[in-house]
Amino acid sequence: MVKPVDTPMMVQYHEIKSQYPDAFVFYRLGDFYELFEEDAVLGAKLLELTLTARNKNSENPVPMAGIPHHAAKNYIDILVDQGYKVAIVEQMEDPAVAKGMVKRDVVQLITPGTKMYDGAGSDKQNNYLAAILPNSDSWALAYIDLSTGELKATTIRRLTDILDELSSLEVKEVVLRQNDDLTTQQQLATQLGERGLVISTQLAIEPNATVSFLTQPLLKIDETKATAMLLNYIFDTQRRNLDHIVPAISYERLAYLKFNQDTRTNLDLVENNRTKKRAGSLLGLIDGTHTAMGSRLLKQWVLKPLRDQNDIEDRLDLVDAFRDDFFTRGALQDQLKSVYDLERLAARAAMGTMNARELVQLKRSLLAIPSIKAALAQTTSILKNASDTLDDMVDVAGLIEEAIVDDPPISVREGDIINDGFDDKIDNYRRVLQDNQTWLAQLETDERAATGIHSLKVGYNKNFGYFIEVTKANISKLEENRYERRQTLTNAERFVTPELKAHERLIIEAQAKRTQREYELFVTVRERVKANISRVQNLAQQIARLDVLSTLADVADNHRFVRPEFTTHNRVCVKQGRHPVVESLLEAGEFVANDVLLDENTTMQLITGPNMAGKSTYMRELALIVILAQMGSFVPADAAELPIFDQIFTRIGANDDMAMGQSTFMVEMAEANHALQEATAHSLILFDELGRGTATYDGMALAQAIIEFLDAHVHAKTLFSTHYHELTVLADQHDSIENVHVGAVEDESGQLHFLHQIKKGPADKSYGIHVAALAGLPETLITQAKVILTELEAQKSSIVTHDQPEERQLEQTRDQLSEQVALFNVDTINPEIKTLLDTLDNFDILTMT
Ligand code: ADP
Repeated sequence: MVKPVDTPMMVQYHEIKSQYPDAFVFYRLGDFYELFEEDAVLGAKLLELTLTARNKNSENPVPMAGIPHHAAKNYIDILVDQGYKVAIVEQMEDPAVAKGMVKRDVVQLITPGTKMYDGAGSDKQNNYLAAILPNSDSWALAYIDLSTGELKATTIRRLTDILDELSSLEVKEVVLRQNDDLTTQQQLATQLGERGLVISTQLAIEPNATVSFLTQPLLKIDETKATAMLLNYIFDTQRRNLDHIVPAISYERLAYLKFNQDTRTNLDLVENNRTKKRAGSLLGLIDGTHTAMGSRLLKQWVLKPLRDQNDIEDRLDLVDAFRDDFFTRGALQDQLKSVYDLERLAARAAMGTMNARELVQLKRSLLAIPSIKAALAQTTSILKNASDTLDDMVDVAGLIEEAIVDDPPISVREGDIINDGFDDKIDNYRRVLQDNQTWLAQLETDERAATGIHSLKVGYNKNFGYFIEVTKANISKLEENRYERRQTLTNAERFVTPELKAHERLIIEAQAKRTQREYELFVTVRERVKANISRVQNLAQQIARLDVLSTLADVADNHRFVRPEFTTHNRVCVKQGRHPVVESLLEAGEFVANDVLLDENTTMQLITGPNMAGKSTYMRELALIVILAQMGSFVPADAAELPIFDQIFTRIGANDDMAMGQSTFMVEMAEANHALQEATAHSLILFDELGRGTATYDGMALAQAIIEFLDAHVHAKTLFSTHYHELTVLADQHDSIENVHVGAVEDESGQLHFLHQIKKGPADKSYGIHVAALAGLPETLITQAKVILTELEAQKSSIVTHDQPEERQLEQTRDQLSEQVALFNVDTINPEIKTLLDTLDNFDILTMT
């Protein structure tokens, strides 16, 4: 069989595709991007395109799917959001003048981490791309948001911390050296999930001329290398001007309050763990920012609270000043409404993708700055200083104001962009065009008069140009030899005259010159803006900061927050603290505030009380107060005195954890271990019902051992909730441990009422059955349960021994309910109770609270 020979086009396609085997190649063909072969087959499926074929009737038709080029962006987004790469192949010469095959080349590779957002949309997310470079004892991490130009680098000691930093930044794509070990690659792939991408390259890690100005001397050697590799990857894939990238800043993770992904999830910091939405999270509650930049910055602050007291107080001072000055705050926020996404506008200016509308957005944003400066300047507080450093960029705003019309079209090639009076030449062309319009109108009048045809029209059509139109009935009235036929319609004929042709030439010429000149001037203005990018970026940062600080003042006002005070004594004293998110979901006044008091000698509170009483709310509340305080926000309390924490650890089980069974216990223990190993006397630990993932005695024994280990070796401030009442005796044995419980009262009918109030001492009862009653379990069942409880309590002394044979303990790996049952000789139990136990067995405890 003879192998079919590729057409020249397919030869070109294969040449390009072979350089980008793992990307969808969007091959430009006229008004379409075409996908071929396997790209077409998969693309048709993912993008719901019609799969057709090139050379359909030949022996070897080539699968093909087309995308109209003007709609390409949506399709690219769909693919890139799923973790694919797209290589855009454009025609590099005009097909009309090209000899032979039109030259084509890849102009850009779009990947999850390099995806650019459109224009100045109100996007609240950063989109990060990272590079990591392992060394003998540490890892260098560099990351960039290409749409804002932010570039940072740091050194991290362990892979787990790298993974954590990547997840905190929601990095979409990681660049690695090709020879880096496979496990790392696998771990990264798992971490990034389906939508992420791990790229291994052989790119240079030494900074070359293109990237060296972005790697500063302050970076460590490996940070410089990681940054260089990242930048090389970007320049290699983006192939365009990226002057907006800000020279890399090195940061220390130690400067920030540290917590891991589980803690972010457990505390619902930036999204609600259940709904995966912003609403119902801390960020959702406090993000009332007025600009996209502010919103992105606030998220960064929530995820990276500070540890340096001076830095924290600087932020708090400004929040305080804004809170005291309602008027200035209002004036600022009024102006912020007209400030667009300056960071992304700057990026688009740099890449040369900024259109005239975006220039106008930039101008509108800049025109708001003088009022902001003025509002801040008239204050007597530290807000005045913020005014002094604001660059209002009147020169740039003035230039755009002068040059660009207020409402320009999206297209920058079709004119109507430059203001009258800005440029003599354009004014001149416009005058010529205007004169010709007048001439055309006059022509119509004159021709009507001359021919006596009242319906005669002078018109314009894209294909045929200017014409004089006469209905067929009137044709005979036209003077012979003067009119040249141009186009025939059903009812009319269209003609031109030599004068009309001459004017047409003038019009076309003036139009072409005008649009060309307008485009050139527009580009000049854009270049001037580009020359000022770093000023725009500086301004963007200051505006974002003012936006966040004034928003935090709003939050403090609206949610009754107070300024926290920091103490060098290791003491927590929160008066009437509240969980701001839970509170916001309740009716006003329903939330019960609680004090959190841990003096210097107390490191741990053991929290007991019925389920649903509010134990974990109380625990999380403290963590949120700590995070808010250290990010520079006021906190939900009447007063708060806090030490500065270095890390927060949480182990808070969720339903889905329990569903995973034994492995959950491993996770639970691994997390506990993480805290035991890493925590210091300056850390905060929240352990919620630790040990419930295994059999009762295992769990209790471990819980006790962990408490004692923390007490002896770690000394971190710890909130430990437990349903093992037996553990409350530990408070008597250790001075640093204190019992508290969440109160509940039983009314005469035995009905339980939660007070949500934290009180000193251990809880007297577990109230589990009351909670079951509240959950609506059948009354007969509840009664039976009370009987069992009484029986159990009678036998309790014989059950709760510490000298059980080890094998017996190990056997107890079933879940708690059936395990309780196993403690009895089932045969001796009253048959009714046996039925009841069977019923209980059938309950779906995972969906019950
Ligand atoms: P536990 O951890 O003791 O099982 P949670 O902390 O999960 O209980 O609280 C259960 C529910 O009780 C919460 O969802 C909330 O609606 C309510 N709650 C908790 N604490 C308070 C409080 N301090 N004031 C008012 N309602 C509260």
